[in-house]
Amino acid sequence: MGNHQDCVYCNHCLPCPAGIDIGAMMRLFDQARIAMRPELRAAYAALDANAQDCLACGECKERRPFGMPTVECMAEATGILAE
Ligand code: SF4
Repeated sequence: MGNHQDCVYCNHCLPCPAGIDIGAMMRLFDQARIAMRPELRAAYAALDANAQDCLACGECKERRPFGMPTVECMAEATGILAE
């Protein structure tokens, strides 16, 4: 399994100007994609900054080692996890 777009939560794409812990955000997003649970929404809401704060600046894309479509993931994560 796995492909070049799998996030391994390494956070080599940080720092994020919006203060998003991208690795933690991606982990929540992946968990929600597999099986959505109410706890995941609560964990999302508890983050200091989450996918909704993404500025789509693209800075993380310049540093990502594995080709993650980070901006697109943040938009999709918002759709799944934001209340
Ligand atoms: S594109 Fe979004 S997640 Fe990536 S560094 Fe910019 S604000 Fe942070």
